[in-house]
Amino acid sequence: MNQPAVPNLDRLQQLCTQRVMQRIRHVLQIWQRLAHDGWAPGTVNALHDASQQLLQDAERFELPTQAKLARTLCQYLQPLYEQAAPLDEPSTAQMRSLLERLAHASLRRGEQFEEVPLPDLPRPAYILLQDREQAEHLAQQLAFYGTAAHALADANAFREALTERAPALVVMDVDFTGAGQGIGLAEQVRDVCTEPVALLFYCVDESDTASRLAALRAGGQGFLTGTVEASSLLEKIEQLEHPAHNEPLRVLIIDDSRTQARYSERLLNAVGIDTRVLTEPLQAMETLADFQPDLLILDMYMPTCTGPELAKVIRHNERYVSLPIIYLSAEDDLDKQLDALSEGGDDFLTKPVRSRQLISTVRNRAARARHLQTRLVRDSLTGLYNHTHILQLLEDCSTRARRGEQPLSFAMLDLDHFKRVNDQHGHPMGDRVLKTLALFLRQRLRRSDCIGRYGGEEFAVVMPNTELDAAHGVLDEIRQRFADLHFPAQRQQLQCTFSAGVVMLTGDMDVMELASAADQALYAAKHGGRNRVEKADR
Ligand code: GH3
Ligand code: MG
Ligand code: MG
Repeated sequence: MNQPAVPNLDRLQQLCTQRVMQRIRHVLQIWQRLAHDGWAPGTVNALHDASQQLLQDAERFELPTQAKLARTLCQYLQPLYEQAAPLDEPSTAQMRSLLERLAHASLRRGEQFEEVPLPDLPRPAYILLQDREQAEHLAQQLAFYGTAAHALADANAFREALTERAPALVVMDVDFTGAGQGIGLAEQVRDVCTEPVALLFYCVDESDTASRLAALRAGGQGFLTGTVEASSLLEKIEQLEHPAHNEPLRVLIIDDSRTQARYSERLLNAVGIDTRVLTEPLQAMETLADFQPDLLILDMYMPTCTGPELAKVIRHNERYVSLPIIYLSAEDDLDKQLDALSEGGDDFLTKPVRSRQLISTVRNRAARARHLQTRLVRDSLTGLYNHTHILQLLEDCSTRARRGEQPLSFAMLDLDHFKRVNDQHGHPMGDRVLKTLALFLRQRLRRSDCIGRYGGEEFAVVMPNTELDAAHGVLDEIRQRFADLHFPAQRQQLQCTFSAGVVMLTGDMDVMELASAADQALYAAKHGGRNRVEKADR
């Protein structure tokens, strides 16, 4: 028996619905890819395009329900597509429900749809400040940098948010909803969240020691005061995520007696301190440069030179002026000990030394030196390495690259027409642009890359293990993204670009030759019309 013929119109409608259904499936597939692989600009672009096609077809085939849903979907995706930042949690949930409604609107009877998963988003930050306006502002700024953040209004909103989605970070005013109340509220984080959450406290008053103490006891990992800038907050987050002190402290032991050195080494290794032993003091400078210790343990009497002599030699190098040097010796003549200290030593431990004393002296001094060093080598506006240090790192990385026969690229960046930015929008806005570029670079380059502020509006990037073309590609992508950013300025929106020159280490180029080659390429980029990345031609 023949099946009854479907009337033409119905048949046509069925075909149209099928076509739209295909479009929807395509959108869902891309959404699933996002859920699986996380947010990548390419996938976001694909999602945007697929949704546009869906909308076109739904409108053309006059399917009003689908068209309406598709239109909302496109509206949601527009900012995501323009700013390339991940959606926040509530928007993601709304997206999912939209996609589900779309799917159901197009299902034939009896057909089933699998549940649509949520993409795995970076966990958000919750901001709870007494000053609601500041909290909102901070959350907005963080979003501008691509970090989802929510300003929460009261304790209930906080509890709800905690159970709904565990944050990566909580910024809590110690006086949130009342004097000292914030502390108790923050303690609930530990009860509710299973994953570790970074907890920062905030206090309007910088000199409030009691609050600091209470914050510390409540498990606070940092303390903010005054006006909090998104950039400094992000820096804190970065420190919490990748703390410098997570990297083991490094101690160099110089002693002609291997037995004595091994003894100290075993004690320190047992508490997680990295050590290296040198029995030949004349190799000190080379080993210092290679190992970059946080502290040096030095013997007083060695055959080739004395400890104090070596300390003097080391101190002659600008780089090691603040490296803590601890003498470890059987010398018990106090005058001789004092002489040694006046020659550039920081402390004197007399053998036999109690193991706990050795460990605590070394650990405390090394940790403080590491902390101090971090501040010394950083530029205060951007938090990037300063001019001197980035060149130093370029030298260290070049040496390592040459020895390991690995490629190394180096780039110089310079903001375009930056003088105009200052002139038209004011110096503070100029500073803001500088900070944003710094953050942009930090977020988009690899952790093994070193980023520095080379001068006023110039930046330098050392990229170990990177061929010229790869370095060019990465920088060019950053250049495009940065040029797309809109800075919220007073009169008209501000957009800013940079030019860059990139060079790869070849043969025996030294640091100055590398820098000058990168600079020439940068100059070529400027002359080629700016907003471009040029490779050095050599
Ligand atoms: P070009 O595209 O050729 O690089 O033009 P330019 O205007 O960027 O270059 P120029 O070297 O003439 O001007 C650099 C400007 O950068 C001048 C200076 O006021 C500004 N600048 C340098 N350091 C800072 C800073 O720390 N903050 C601010 N806001 N501006 C700075
Ligand atoms: Mg410039
Ligand atoms: Mg310049």
